[in-house]
Amino acid sequence: MGLLDRAGARLTARPEDAEILIVNTCSFIDRAKQESVDSILEMARYKASGSAKRLIVAGCLVERYRNEIRKSIPEVDAVVGTGELEYILEAAGLARPQAAAASSPFNILSANGHAESRPGQESRAGTHKSEAAASRPEGNLRERQGRFRRDDWQGATHLLPTYLYDESTPRYLTTPSSSAYIKIAEGCDHPCSFCVIPNLRGKFRSRRFESVVAEARQLVARGVQEITLIGQDTTCYGEDLALKDGLALLLDSLARIEGLRWLRFLYAYPNRITGRLLDTIARHDNICKYLDVPLQHASPAVLKRMKRGGGAEIFLRTLEKVRAAVPGIALRTTFIAGFPGESPRDFELLEEFVGEARFDWLGVFSYSDEEGSGAFSLDGKVPRRTVEARKRRLMKLQQAISKRAKRQWVGRELVLLAEGESDETPLLWEGRTQFHAPEIDGKVYINDCGELAALEPGRFYKAQITEAYEYDVVARVVAGPL
Ligand code: SF4
Repeated sequence: MGLLDRAGARLTARPEDAEILIVNTCSFIDRAKQESVDSILEMARYKASGSAKRLIVAGCLVERYRNEIRKSIPEVDAVVGTGELEYILEAAGLARPQAAAASSPFNILSANGHAESRPGQESRAGTHKSEAAASRPEGNLRERQGRFRRDDWQGATHLLPTYLYDESTPRYLTTPSSSAYIKIAEGCDHPCSFCVIPNLRGKFRSRRFESVVAEARQLVARGVQEITLIGQDTTCYGEDLALKDGLALLLDSLARIEGLRWLRFLYAYPNRITGRLLDTIARHDNICKYLDVPLQHASPAVLKRMKRGGGAEIFLRTLEKVRAAVPGIALRTTFIAGFPGESPRDFELLEEFVGEARFDWLGVFSYSDEEGSGAFSLDGKVPRRTVEARKRRLMKLQQAISKRAKRQWVGRELVLLAEGESDETPLLWEGRTQFHAPEIDGKVYINDCGELAALEPGRFYKAQITEAYEYDVVARVVAGPL
């Protein structure tokens, strides 16, 4: 969006007003694929009946079904994979097509619409001037083991993406003006058997340290006060740059940026939470006391089949270490229910673990059988009804835990970021504390502005929690803006 904006395009969220329609897709699991295809078809109808002249499909679905999209949906004029973001301008007709080098993958847009796989070739975007993508021995080993293979993905003939953006890449923020995400790394070298993200996104590669810091400074200068670091695995940050404890070093640098009120990272890998990382979170007031660590399961047998390792006992020790190092920290995790081979006993182990671990926030996904993932060929598939029943059971269990935990919040005074009127009713405002990541966790509803006539979105206030529900709490403002 930043590139398009800089090139003079005016962005609109109303498809009926657009001359160029761009569908940014996901293909992580079946449901996401279906949603992506539905959106493409919906936009194709706009193209047929409205003023739109071009329809572009971008993102992960392109990495997975590049040729298929072009063959099956003739209304699509161009496809742009995750490794060729800069090509969006040519695809949108906002830049002159450059003569494709013999080795360029952009011949995907040639008349016949067929891409060719050329070993060793790098995308033009992937050779971006300042972000050289190195790889880690772990990634190279996994590559030899076939982790990133796409051969049996019909139409996915493009090479693995190597693209990384940098601080000079223009950005167009769609988040509220006070908050922004920064992607610090791309790709993943882990072998999790249920996951096709590495096949879609390529090998793990970190952005340069200075580039991330420069981008954060630019964002804060634009008024951003909360930064959330993301990547498929943020805790591996810097390993390919020969940095030890790279994420801790990065957080330490970013936390010193004046004007940055809240800093957090998502998607920690459980065995990479180091003492130094925890010390860094504890040491800086503006690093949120919040840790998102997707554990996926707690039964050692299931985790072994998932190719992740660990188990309830190890995880409980890790959580104990985290809570001791950062008192009061909010913990978030996600689990997969119904992974192939998950026996009733495995599921009980997971329930016992959830009862003991007392997460503040917990998400449960139903296992999705993805072609191209290691788990696709596993036996012991759990019937869909059982998967859904287990998911419901786990959510119900967590609901009770969460309700008890949220009751402890009543009476506490916390700093919150006011986000705006509630979607549900204009009589309430919504906000978040440092213990709520943007978009994914519960909410703080504000029903009393205290002495203030009104609140301002994007400002911080001190508020007292007055009521608690399963996931959400209610608060009244007692001071601010801070
Ligand atoms: S660490 Fe996350 S992105 Fe990487 S393979 Fe595992 S689940 Fe997929």
